[in-house]
Amino acid sequence: MIDHDVIIVGGGLAGSRAALEIVRTAPSLRVALVAKTHPIRSHSVAAQGGIAAALQNVDPNDSWKAHAFDTVKGSDYLADQDAVEILTKEAPNVVIDLEHMGVLFSRLADGRIAQRAFGGHSHNRTCYAADKTGHAILHELVCNLLAKGVTIYDEWYVNRLILEEGEAKGVVMHRIRDGQLEIVRAKAVMFATGGYGRVYNTTSNDYASTGDGLSMTALAGLPLEDMEFVQFHPTGLYPVGVLISEAVRGEGAYLINSEGRRFMEDYAPSRMELAPRDITSRAITREIRAGRGVHPDGSAGGPCVFLDLRHMGQEKIMSRVPFCWEEAHRLVGVDAVHQPMPVRPTVHYSMGGIPVNTDGRVYSSATDLTEGFFAAGEAACVSVHGANRLGSNSLLECVVYGRRVGAAIARYVQNRKLPEINAARYFKETTDQFQALLDQPGEYRLAEVRQAYQDCMTEHCGVFRTEAVMQEGLAKLKQIQQQYHQIRLDDRGKVWNTELIEALELRSLMVVGEVILASAINRQESRGAHSREDFPQRDDANFLKHTLAYYSPAGIDLQYKPVTITLFEPQERKY
Ligand SMILES: Cc1cc2nc3c(=O)[nH]c(=O)nc-3n(C[C@H](O)[C@H](O)[C@H](O)COP(=O)(O)OP(=O)(O)OC[C@H]3O[C@@H](n4cnc5c(N)ncnc54)[C@H](O)[C@@H]3O)c2cc1C
Repeated sequence: MIDHDVIIVGGGLAGSRAALEIVRTAPSLRVALVAKTHPIRSHSVAAQGGIAAALQNVDPNDSWKAHAFDTVKGSDYLADQDAVEILTKEAPNVVIDLEHMGVLFSRLADGRIAQRAFGGHSHNRTCYAADKTGHAILHELVCNLLAKGVTIYDEWYVNRLILEEGEAKGVVMHRIRDGQLEIVRAKAVMFATGGYGRVYNTTSNDYASTGDGLSMTALAGLPLEDMEFVQFHPTGLYPVGVLISEAVRGEGAYLINSEGRRFMEDYAPSRMELAPRDITSRAITREIRAGRGVHPDGSAGGPCVFLDLRHMGQEKIMSRVPFCWEEAHRLVGVDAVHQPMPVRPTVHYSMGGIPVNTDGRVYSSATDLTEGFFAAGEAACVSVHGANRLGSNSLLECVVYGRRVGAAIARYVQNRKLPEINAARYFKETTDQFQALLDQPGEYRLAEVRQAYQDCMTEHCGVFRTEAVMQEGLAKLKQIQQQYHQIRLDDRGKVWNTELIEALELRSLMVVGEVILASAINRQESRGAHSREDFPQRDDANFLKHTLAYYSPAGIDLQYKPVTITLFEPQERKY
């Protein structure tokens, strides 16, 4: 058994920022960070467009309150406004702190941090490092962790949260390189495990975004919040699904249909291409359904629309969004200086997650907290994004709440002793679980079951939803879950057994998908990213509340908790 004061699972922006805050405020604490990738390969590194903060460098009329209003309106009034207030008030300060750490933000001519327009934001407030913002921030954070002596376990897969009688005591982890198993005991456990884009067959997320932290939390008996709200980013490059950043539209690109028309004027005339993502993704899907989509060769009736940068000119494209140009060129052979890019919605972000308070402490019910357990970043739901997140608010959430949660953990562990754990029991249970997977006789291939599952979720819980389609999806999911127990693994060894890891990840994906479907079926209204064709209106009387879903193999129990409204009364959401 290994002992640490604090164990953080996840080396992306949220986990790294929290670890840094702990060692900054309490240097004597033994802090460890574990990640199944190398920390700098966390999905945060792929973030492109930027991080929002009302710095007023470009727009002197901006304010934290304007940022808060945009965020709450963007969330379709489901965000908790006390959490949004913290997010937007602390934003300028955390960005300046990053800059002091050495993050290379793009600059204005006078040397101050540049800020660009982003969807749903009423002012130019998104700070950026060209279109590689996540890369710039994460590298700086991880360098700082190494300098400050945080123990890093990279390429270790965490398989279980040890939770006994309402108290988190540690984790079980497995070294991918050689199959070594360790029980880690800690005074506080934090999950910063990111999103679950791989639940779907087309996503902007990386291969590691499999929702493990959510699944481990649910399997330990704790609830997950608002999981029905899955963000579809409007501009995934067709057919691969990788992201073409919203920064491209922020810098002036158009969305056009097969008639060559900027169709956003029919859906959000005041914001056009910079409407929030839920609205823009639905508009694109409607255009495609109405036969006004395009094929990549430009002919009508295809499965995508065009993102047109041509009027921006080569110099602007190459200086502001060079990586997006390169992606389209490398992956689909489109030179965006001269040709439009084929795009359509792609699964991008999880608004829901592990329910936490504004110190990152995890709820065990609508009112009670779990001892010793914290979460932040995309895996958590605090909830600053409600039913729909605005672009550039997620990196912000990771650093604002990463820092807050780090500080809260440093305080929390001061007077705590290491918990008692029966390590032998957890060791044996995990060894048996892995051995059973390796030995299981079966007729199915892992990749085939995963594909069937991802296709099922994509078809039955996409941009538009109905009760009948989702119920059918849930029934199919149950069948696919049966097949999971008949998967035959080829690799039975201990060294770099990535097939075993993929099998464990598929279990996570299936738990998460079932929670998404059950939560979505029960929310009989349309709000933000959750769009029900059978219930097209938002219904504040019955559904202005957060879903709490408790997983069990027998089924999912759904409860609700109220939304915190402190600043802005819900209004109709129009752009
Ligand atoms: C292509 C793309 C572009 C984006 N651009 C922007 C943008 O411009 N602005 C913005 O605000 N947001 C953007 N986002 C969203 C934002 O980047 C993410 O929401 C955010 O970075 C998530 O950070 P995180 O720290 O929560 O998790 P991640 O960065 O996803 O890190 C998760 C960590 O958990 C570890 N982990 C997971 N499971 C396990 C396990 N079982 N065992 C051990 N370790 C585990 C992983 O190895 C990883 O280190 C973008 C997202 C994508 C996909």
